[in-house]
Amino acid sequence: MPQDSTNINNKAATQHTYDAIVIGSGISGGWAAKELCDHGLKTLVLERGRDVKHIKDYPTTTMDPWEFKHRTKLTTQLKKDNPIADSCYAFDETTQHFFVKDKEHPYIQEKPFDWIRGYQVGGKSLLWARATQRWSKFDFEGPGRDGFAVDWPLRYPDLAPWYSHVERFAGISGNKDGLETMPDGEFLEPWQMNVAEKYIQGKILTNYTDRYVIQGRCAHLTQPKEIHLQQNRGKCQARNICQRGCPFGGYFSSNSSTLPWAEKTGNLTLRPHSVVHSIIYDEQKNKAAGVRVIDANTKQVIEYFATIIFVNAACLNSNLILLNSVSNRFPNGLGNDNGLLGKYIAFHNYRGNIDASIPGFEDKTEYGRKPTQAMMPNFRNVFKQETDFLRGYMIHYSAGRSSWQQGFSQDGVGANYKESLTEPGGWNVSMMMQGETIPKEKNHVRLSKDQKDDWGIPLLITSVDYDDNDEKVMKDFLQQGSEMLEKAGCKNINAYDNGRRPGNDIHEMGGIRMGKDPKTSLLNSYNQLHHCKNVFVTDGACMTSTATQNPSLTFMAFTARAVDHAVSELKKGNL
Ligand SMILES: Cc1cc2nc3c(=O)[nH]c(=O)nc-3n(C[C@H](O)[C@H](O)[C@H](O)COP(=O)(O)OP(=O)(O)OC[C@H]3O[C@@H](n4cnc5c(N)ncnc54)[C@H](O)[C@@H]3O)c2cc1C
Repeated sequence: MPQDSTNINNKAATQHTYDAIVIGSGISGGWAAKELCDHGLKTLVLERGRDVKHIKDYPTTTMDPWEFKHRTKLTTQLKKDNPIADSCYAFDETTQHFFVKDKEHPYIQEKPFDWIRGYQVGGKSLLWARATQRWSKFDFEGPGRDGFAVDWPLRYPDLAPWYSHVERFAGISGNKDGLETMPDGEFLEPWQMNVAEKYIQGKILTNYTDRYVIQGRCAHLTQPKEIHLQQNRGKCQARNICQRGCPFGGYFSSNSSTLPWAEKTGNLTLRPHSVVHSIIYDEQKNKAAGVRVIDANTKQVIEYFATIIFVNAACLNSNLILLNSVSNRFPNGLGNDNGLLGKYIAFHNYRGNIDASIPGFEDKTEYGRKPTQAMMPNFRNVFKQETDFLRGYMIHYSAGRSSWQQGFSQDGVGANYKESLTEPGGWNVSMMMQGETIPKEKNHVRLSKDQKDDWGIPLLITSVDYDDNDEKVMKDFLQQGSEMLEKAGCKNINAYDNGRRPGNDIHEMGGIRMGKDPKTSLLNSYNQLHHCKNVFVTDGACMTSTATQNPSLTFMAFTARAVDHAVSELKKGNL
């Protein structure tokens, strides 16, 4: 038990027993809850933050800019108090209630690392940008072929049916593009590129044989199907203020989709304000018995018990929980016989940006908004190693009229300012990279030996950095991206290193990686701890490598697949 526990509930064992416990209610935890409840398991979801009910708890979702005290901007004080949260583009007056405030949840940055968090029911599923692409066979083969990290214990065909499973339910829009590097999914109607985006696409396709530009795939209901109507979700209205929570359920979030679905089964118990301290290990039975929780408000220590435990607290918090789960059998953290828990943390390299203007479309405009961009799947080192860096990068780009793109976020006052807002301005293009980073042992997290948070849990130390490979990947993107825009007729091309710190991509992965060999990995091919089979980790912590795709769709697919396996093992009496 934690040393500073003040109030212990000794009746917990009889009162608090479930078939399954899920730690965390964000994207992956919501999926675990839905699948477990659908299989008839009495499931307890433990969430450290407050409850956020769909629609009712989206206070800013229908507000106009002028209804906000600071017209959607943050005060200088708030920005000063929250440099980490403020480093995220989505943190503003309209969304700040869904972000962790820096001072309330400290961690120790041995090296600069922006840890962006959303502690509430739904986690970051309320805030995410909803870009969703499948991994390809090349991504699962990557570490084995190129000799980094460890080989994945599964391949694309193992996950493909589970991608389909989660795509159908979540609702993913996109085109069937027939690309080997980014397999097609179960798509709803795609969004359309605007005239300038299409023009750039055409020029790139004409000038290069190894590159493809496709419309971005995203978790929005362009044309809801029966399964979405059953979730009480409706068509995306293209409001593009998604991070406030969508009253239409137009985009996928745990709050609008998986959690209410799980609740309808009658098998879900959701307990907000429940900070999971650690997983309890039963030394007699050689498996996990349950979890130890600190009530966020009362600080009471409570224990819950279950046959199956899903760890879905998001990558770094899942690492923290396992590192803090010590027992005689596992003195260095649950399942950590090889000492690799917390190591091989990786992320996405977002450091390259390119801005440009594109002439020739002054007499053209676009109608409405769309929640996605054009994108280019990785084209570097796909079939074989061909550059002086490992792996590659995906590219996202969008074009729009400069004045209208900025809208009310432009500074200014008075008549001239108002007048300028009525002019659309020239066409601008902005391009960004999403680079694969190579997991390395030295990029790690660990627990502080002497500093604890308000709930008596050791603070997490982050020690994660870029390396030479990341520098080379960024340089290649800046050069190739500039060249592509130049060939598309763009002007004023400005390619730059934006200096973003690791973590700012909000795609942290690894630390509890999957692999074939218990000597070099923590989880098996079904996300089970090699040494504690009734504990499953299916958030970003399980990732052996990062690929270049946005990761959350893959977390969803892993989660659904792992629940299926857990249930079949349970039926066989193996858990
Ligand atoms: C602005 C933004 C844009 C993004 N855009 C994209 C995108 O376009 N595409 C994409 O794929 N991904 C995107 N992401 C990342 C995406 O949000 C995450 O990958 C995803 O939410 C991870 O799911 P998760 O379940 O692991 O974690 P989360 O959704 O963060 O949920 C984790 C939950 O666990 C809870 N928790 C943590 N610790 C404990 C504890 N000790 N006890 C109990 N509960 C705990 C948290 O409060 C939280 O509710 C974006 C994120 C942000 C913030």
